[in-house]
Amino acid sequence: MFKKDFPIFDTPLIYLDSAASAQKPKMVVEALSDFYLKDYSNVHRGTCELANRATRMYESARKSVAEFIVADEKEIVFTKGATEAINMVATGYEQLLKPDDEVLVSISEHHANFVPWQQLCLKTGAKFCIFNMKEDGSWDLDDFKAKLNENTKIVAVSVMSNVLGIINPVKKLTDMAHQFGAKVLLDGAQSVAHIPTNVKDFGCDYFVFSGHKIYGPTGIGVLYGAMEALEVLPPYQFGGDMVKDVFIDKTTFADLPAKLEAGTPPIAEAIALQSALNYIQNIGWEEIQKNEKQVFDYLIQKLKNIHQIQFLGNPDIKTGLVSFNIKGIHPNDISMILAKQNVCVRVGHHCAMPIHQFWGVNASIRASLGLYNTTEDVDLFISALQKAIGFFK
Ligand code: PMP
Repeated sequence: MFKKDFPIFDTPLIYLDSAASAQKPKMVVEALSDFYLKDYSNVHRGTCELANRATRMYESARKSVAEFIVADEKEIVFTKGATEAINMVATGYEQLLKPDDEVLVSISEHHANFVPWQQLCLKTGAKFCIFNMKEDGSWDLDDFKAKLNENTKIVAVSVMSNVLGIINPVKKLTDMAHQFGAKVLLDGAQSVAHIPTNVKDFGCDYFVFSGHKIYGPTGIGVLYGAMEALEVLPPYQFGGDMVKDVFIDKTTFADLPAKLEAGTPPIAEAIALQSALNYIQNIGWEEIQKNEKQVFDYLIQKLKNIHQIQFLGNPDIKTGLVSFNIKGIHPNDISMILAKQNVCVRVGHHCAMPIHQFWGVNASIRASLGLYNTTEDVDLFISALQKAIGFFK
């Protein structure tokens, strides 16, 4: 239904890899090129109309992001992606953590929300704690409760796992963490394209996502922080645009969010991200979710009919993406044959090795949906998959 908005689908392509990166609607690419062709200037610096216009457009993008996740503009920091946003917070906590403190993450995190915390703990001497999931892939909240205590300073978890596709009960977890005074960072890199985001409802202190997974460009991401949570973060980088006054012997820093946006920001990317958010809002979440559920249910039903299939987690509690293996065949072998048939899926550990270790496998095949996918894509994918399986019989 929505494929017509995405020029890449003008030629045949079965794209089931939106969790890695989503395709771009024409209007997003046009927003990017229009800005460069008609409105381009640096921001926050010039006095001419062009510079003022670029600044207005960049700040209007910030406003749109704030509205999209139900936050205030001052709470939105543009970054180059979710990874940089998480690193900004983790690096900030290098100055805030003590050796007895603890950081708690789930076993199902993407490396981007795992390694920065692990490294932070190695640097500060704080304890890196991990809570488990159950066999069905849902979080083991008893284990979470057992690991949460008054030493826990940060809880960092994803709203939706990039391997399991399970929407996690983040509100419940955030409430529990706050009872112990811990700050909560939610990784929304996957969830933003599948469910509406309301950081106030989530009750989190930090929320991050990347533009490219929500039909926007690469090179742009968002760090949301509740004001007091952002205020404790020291500057991540030093340079232009993040200072108030610079003297030979000292520097004072700009107010938020500028304090955390050193140097020339990703201006065109922010403006194109705004266009992607407009695209989503024009369709509406109800329509997006209805269409996705129909295609996803169909995909799961078809996959269940393959008798050698081994799902990672319970397929009936997933949204938008599914990871699996075919018993007796290496996922790389399957993917090579799928690739020859013009089917794009992701194969490997999907930057989440601990989750694969939990199930005792090195890799899996992941099929993930975007709002453009149809049941016809599923049929073509399943027949390509059957062909691949048949090849190894
Ligand atoms: N978290 C999750 C759950 C992800 O899926 C990804 C991207 N695969 C990231 C974080 C990192 O996003 P980026 O590479 O855009 O910074």
